[in-house]
Amino acid sequence: MTTASSFTVIDEAVEQARPVIERLASELWQLSELSLYEEKSSQLVMDVLQERGFTISSKGTAGVPTAFIAEWGTGTPIIGFLAEYDALPDLGNEAVPYRQPRKDNVTGGHACGHNLLGAGTVGAAVALKTLMTEQHLPGTVRVYGCAAEETEGAKVYMARAGLFDDLDVALHWHPSNDAAVTNIRSAAVNQLLIEFFGKAAHAGMAPWLGRSALHAAELFAHGVSLMREHVEPTARIHYVYESAGAAPNVVADYAKIRLYVRDIDRAHVDASTTWLRQIAEGAALATQTKANVLLYTGLYDLLPNQPLAERMQTHLERIGVPDYSEEELNFARELQKNFGAAPDGMATTTEPLPDDSVFMGASTDVADVSWVTPTMGCGMPTLPLHISVHTWPATASHGTSIGSKGALYAARVLAATGLDVMIDADLRQAARTDFKRRTDGKPYVSPLPPELKHPIGLPAWLKPAE
Ligand SMILES: [Zn+2]
Repeated sequence: MTTASSFTVIDEAVEQARPVIERLASELWQLSELSLYEEKSSQLVMDVLQERGFTISSKGTAGVPTAFIAEWGTGTPIIGFLAEYDALPDLGNEAVPYRQPRKDNVTGGHACGHNLLGAGTVGAAVALKTLMTEQHLPGTVRVYGCAAEETEGAKVYMARAGLFDDLDVALHWHPSNDAAVTNIRSAAVNQLLIEFFGKAAHAGMAPWLGRSALHAAELFAHGVSLMREHVEPTARIHYVYESAGAAPNVVADYAKIRLYVRDIDRAHVDASTTWLRQIAEGAALATQTKANVLLYTGLYDLLPNQPLAERMQTHLERIGVPDYSEEELNFARELQKNFGAAPDGMATTTEPLPDDSVFMGASTDVADVSWVTPTMGCGMPTLPLHISVHTWPATASHGTSIGSKGALYAARVLAATGLDVMIDADLRQAARTDFKRRTDGKPYVSPLPPELKHPIGLPAWLKPAE
């Protein structure tokens, strides 16, 4: 267990990793590559880890070309750090407190702060390596290059391949407005592509010769709206039309809907998915078209872990939130004003440990790791209060020293918790017992269809040969 005297040692080890954290924070932000296209970002993270003595044990991991695994050390315990590095489309912005698309024409942006997420977890892994070397501790530090968190989730592919099975604990963090331990539940989700195939015809001259795929899609969407009345209040179903015909005077022979169905756990999501498939079939029957439903990715609900959360909370409270310069606080307030939010600056204190029944309506692929091994993470401020991630001001903030300070502080929390896991067998045991109680002996069954070997959104040049 870490003692007060060892805190300075931990913080010094993270301080030594500061150049790694700041470099990744800045260079990943510059790259801002989208999910499954993050080739340079993934290579950069691998290069940095290799420079610091880690070995790349897997590349193009589990069917995801931009995923990897790096490790250092030998034997047990084994700790996994979950690093992400993908950006979001159309949210690029200069690191200025107003709306300003990037001058270099990069349109993607790190509005979810995965540049910082990658930087902080890698920094923590590097610092833990330093501590273990100094203290001659046995064990393995592993960094998972978790590509494509924003779309098809490399962690789901890695979990299906059993790559988290031998971990004692997995640690992660996420950029946020607040400093808080993530001892909460998230929504399980299935993501579906629903296609309808009809028959084209002149819509004025001979509509009786056509069968409208658009009508099938409309009927499907209406069915979904009626279904909503009869699912539990925890269900969330949302969709977009990705293809709905090209011209009104042509009977549309093709339509496509992309849909997310979320709920408190996999059983609820699976039940709703069966119903949605039936609605698609029904819509096709009624319109004399054909339906094809592809479940192309799914995520579990995030499992809390009380012993890990309590330990991480003690470190979070000791480390606190970053100190900001007057210049940084001015930047934060300016950003808030320009986004129409109250100019309250940055979080000034850490949050209390949340009750493990708190439910977040969003989903994360960290959840799939949490069903395989005890998992815990935290949030750390990287953007001003009242501004949510997935917005342009978040991209702007994540490109400044406000962002990289958040990554540095998160690395401190993760390195301290990681060292505890390495040296405290009682903590590992308690975390395992809590994990077993929550999973109740249920094995992790991948939500991915077995025939799906790699994400469907891979660019052509990254598609592995079949
Ligand atoms: Zn994110």
